[in-house]
Amino acid sequence: MDWNELTFREIEKILKEEPLVILPIGSVEEHGNHLPLGSDSYQAIYVAQEISKRINALVLPPIYYGFTELDDFRGTVSIGFDALYLLVRDILRGLIKNGVKKILIISGHASGIHMAAIKRAANETVRDYFVKIILLSDYDIAYELRGKLVPYEDSHAGIIETSRMMAIRPDLVKGNFRFKKGEKGSFLVIDNYSTVYPEGTFSNPEGSSKDLGEKINNYVIERLLIIIKENLGIM
Ligand SMILES: [Zn+2]
Repeated sequence: MDWNELTFREIEKILKEEPLVILPIGSVEEHGNHLPLGSDSYQAIYVAQEISKRINALVLPPIYYGFTELDDFRGTVSIGFDALYLLVRDILRGLIKNGVKKILIISGHASGIHMAAIKRAANETVRDYFVKIILLSDYDIAYELRGKLVPYEDSHAGIIETSRMMAIRPDLVKGNFRFKKGEKGSFLVIDNYSTVYPEGTFSNPEGSSKDLGEKINNYVIERLLIIIKENLGIM
């Protein structure tokens, strides 16, 4: 169920059952020559909706923006750490005011600073209020498949992400797979990613398929259902 599609009377009744409430978060970020700028949002929203179907969770309106370092590429629109932290913190406070007790925050975008901003908001919230929050990126789960289903070095806009998008929104995946790696020293802090990965892909997307994407998406959903059951007792 989508939070936004319900009336206040309807949601009042549903919230009494203490359902899981899911906040999907994405980014507006370049994803190579073949994937759309909203890829992270599409993936997070898809996972949220699939979880919702299985356990009657409520899906909040998504946050389409995130913090990203890839803003030297055209099309990327990043928001700052503080803006993201405050936005998530205030949404969580709004949920608490509504009596929500169980929250899942799922981010399709997984960069460290982005996740840290969300984590700061979630940490403060669980310290100040009686509420349980699960916070993760679907890539925390999907990347468990690196070195098994896909090459170990698979990364941003690579095989996992391309395959997942082929399964979720095939109409938005262009066939133009390109990968080129420039010079990058280990542990070097990068000022402009477009000089290191000029094609916008951090690993080669060749070998992606819809079948593989369905497998990965199912793996993410099944694992997430277990995580929800373990932490919140919802099944
Ligand atoms: Zn992505």
